[in-house]
Amino acid sequence: MAKLSLITRLFLSHLLVMVVGLGSFIAIAKLSSPRFFVFRLEQLEQRGVVTVRSARTYLVRGFESAWNASAIWSILAGATAAGGLSYWVARRIAQPLEEMRQVTQDFAGGNLQVRALASDIPELNQLATSFNRMAGSIEGVEQRRRELISDLTHELRSPLTVVRGYLEELAADNIEPSPELYLRLVREARRLERLTRDLQELSKAEAGHLPINPRPVKLRPLLMTLVERFVDQVIDGDPAFKLDCPETLPPVLADADRLEQVLVNLLGNALRYTESGEIRVQAWSEGARLWVAVSDTGIGIAPDDLPLVFERFWRADRARSRESGGTGIGLAIARRLIELQNGHIEVESELGVGSTFRFWLPTA
Ligand code: ADP
Repeated sequence: MAKLSLITRLFLSHLLVMVVGLGSFIAIAKLSSPRFFVFRLEQLEQRGVVTVRSARTYLVRGFESAWNASAIWSILAGATAAGGLSYWVARRIAQPLEEMRQVTQDFAGGNLQVRALASDIPELNQLATSFNRMAGSIEGVEQRRRELISDLTHELRSPLTVVRGYLEELAADNIEPSPELYLRLVREARRLERLTRDLQELSKAEAGHLPINPRPVKLRPLLMTLVERFVDQVIDGDPAFKLDCPETLPPVLADADRLEQVLVNLLGNALRYTESGEIRVQAWSEGARLWVAVSDTGIGIAPDDLPLVFERFWRADRARSRESGGTGIGLAIARRLIELQNGHIEVESELGVGSTFRFWLPTA
């Protein structure tokens, strides 16, 4: 059966109530009026009234009283039928609304799993669908918030434990203060600093509060400066940095600072996870897209882990990357920044062979 809209339903139900009410009124009136009238005539006959003239008053009165009696019965029956029907129709329409009210109340009360049921009234069905979509996204946000807090406490706990442990030992005179010891403490404090800074950046990027001003940016000079900066960090030229960027590349539509932030992160990772070999930066254009790839010959990422690398706090080897100062947030920020600039980032990698992180941004 075709699903009727709420307006059609209300209109038809009113019509039906009217038809039933009037119908029963007419039916009862038609059935009962002659009977009452006949009854009145019989009464006249018993009194022995003979002439029509003298019977007129009686006849008119008889007709009136028969009409009155039948009208009362018709009204009673019609009103009951119409009232009963309209109550039934109103209940049918109000029931899904009542269910919806219950669901929203439960949801507001903290039960984030409840969902509105589908209804055969299209308007209510749309309302239920919108509500369910909103509920799903709120549940997701809540879930991520919980995960974030649990990840965060985990990340904060380890440097804090190290710092507290050393400080307690120092206070109890169990260990000698030494420059190495203080450096260790400084390293942990730096980690905490970096963590809070990255987190702030990530939360701004995720909430969309990061100011992004896309402008035409020339990629080649930016890549050259960055690569030079990284080359300076490598002492004996291993891994070697290579830049492969045509001079004729069209400008890219991006926020230069945010683009640099992404590239610094990708290059930093490549350097961190590559002991020797080569780190290559390539740029090329493909239609309205400008691609940039950072490939390394480093430790690589296992196939199962690949879908997780852009998740915040995810690190292939927690202990080791923590040692190297990794927070597991860099790639999450990078992805968000690229998406905020209307681009896309992806990764390809093979364990022990190397990784390639590449992204595209629209050309200006
Ligand atoms: P981190 O600060 O830990 O590097 P990222 O979000 O930048 O955080 O990276 C997440 C994880 O992805 C890293 O801990 C590492 O395990 C893996 N990873 C990132 N880049 C590379 C790479 N070039 N080669 C191998 N593994 C990588």
